[in-house]
Amino acid sequence: MPTLDTGHVPASEELFARAKAVTPGGVNSPVRAFNAVGGTPRFIREAKGAWLTDVDGNSYVDLICSWGPMLLGHAHPEVQAAVQAAVARGTSYGTPTEPEVELAEEIVARTSVEEVRFVSSGTEATMSAIRLARGFTGRDVVIKFAGCYHGHVDALLASAGSGLATFAVPGTPGVPASSTELTVVLPYNDRAAVTQAFAEYGDRVACLITEAAPGNMGVVPPETQHGQSFNAFLADTCRQHGALFISDEVMTGFRVTRQGQWGLDGAVEGWTPDLVTFGKVMGGGFPAAAFGGRADVMRRLSPEGPVYQAGTLSGNPVATTAGLATLRLATQEVYDHIGAAAETVKAAASDALTKAGVAHVVQESGTMFSVFFTDRPVRDFTDASTTDVAAYAAFFHSMLRDGVYLPPSAFEAWFLSSAHDDAAVQRIVDALPAAADAAARVSTSSTNEQAEIR
Ligand code: PLP
Repeated sequence: MPTLDTGHVPASEELFARAKAVTPGGVNSPVRAFNAVGGTPRFIREAKGAWLTDVDGNSYVDLICSWGPMLLGHAHPEVQAAVQAAVARGTSYGTPTEPEVELAEEIVARTSVEEVRFVSSGTEATMSAIRLARGFTGRDVVIKFAGCYHGHVDALLASAGSGLATFAVPGTPGVPASSTELTVVLPYNDRAAVTQAFAEYGDRVACLITEAAPGNMGVVPPETQHGQSFNAFLADTCRQHGALFISDEVMTGFRVTRQGQWGLDGAVEGWTPDLVTFGKVMGGGFPAAAFGGRADVMRRLSPEGPVYQAGTLSGNPVATTAGLATLRLATQEVYDHIGAAAETVKAAASDALTKAGVAHVVQESGTMFSVFFTDRPVRDFTDASTTDVAAYAAFFHSMLRDGVYLPPSAFEAWFLSSAHDDAAVQRIVDALPAAADAAARVSTSSTNEQAEIR
């Protein structure tokens, strides 16, 4: 006979204990574990629209949106119907299929890329783009920016070396020094550092890779100086030195604009990347990503050219069907709706934090935004690191208690979807004052660790 339930253990806690016994940290991607905010991650049972339901039956407005992909919200009926029809036809054949062609055509039609190759994750996309850039240019040095995350590619899990424009050191155990000794890590938005690095290594630089508008140290917009955007400056500098410019749009691609690319409008930005990486939204919630760009560069890829790249599940018919359905449903109204919801949430967050006396800065790139718990504008990773992570943790847990699932890290964008309707936005707005008060009660003297990467 069952005994009376005297000490009910929430199902999330029970699952987390089981998960930790069989999976490192109990999660399959580090940030999910709540290490940066403390406590137990909620195990999600199902999601619909803007709402998550955990295994204990609690509901939350979702501000993670699977870290970006769920532009249309969860379980969108038309995406679901397309996926169900695709699944009924079989899930993987290892042969070319029509959905791959259609999704490639859609991406080529909307963005600057002339040809595109599908892979299964953003990490694979950036890794492959760098290999292709090296194969195309016959050069070996890669330049990246501190705080820009491009997946867990060995050469890009790198921290700046001891001086400006010196080669990097491994950012994690397991990456050999030989993998990062051809990587240069520079401060974001720092044109002088870029100029200096190219002066030093110009004829050895295969490519410079940057997030098109960084979101992985929180949202840090590329700065415009004398009418020239940071990206345009980078593209120009690369061109002058015969290096390729890789714009990583895994996070921003099809999330900030319907055209799929940050600053695609030449009239505004005046630059076109040589290679672009995509992921997240273009997979419609499935493991799909891509890299593409200039046809003369892409044609160096195997089997047309000599640079090898491959994948068993690349261009998977279910994933490409989900991506295609998502992109076709992503009308301008979708972006306008997300933009309006973002305005409301940003204003309410700022208002609540101001009333509670919590130092903060709200930064945005298009509809992507984040709230930094710091008192200075954030231009680069050093600025981002001044964020008060203890105050964020208190804020986060108060929001969670009141039914809003924020990213469990202070260094992330808050993601909305077209399914975030008035009721969902109101739940967020209602939860903010108590969360701001909770943040105000926490000391601001805590020191920060590096922003945690997924
Ligand atoms: N590039 C950017 C800009 C990202 O934000 C991410 C993931 O967050 C990646 C690459 C890596 O993508 P994935 O996690 O699919 O490997």
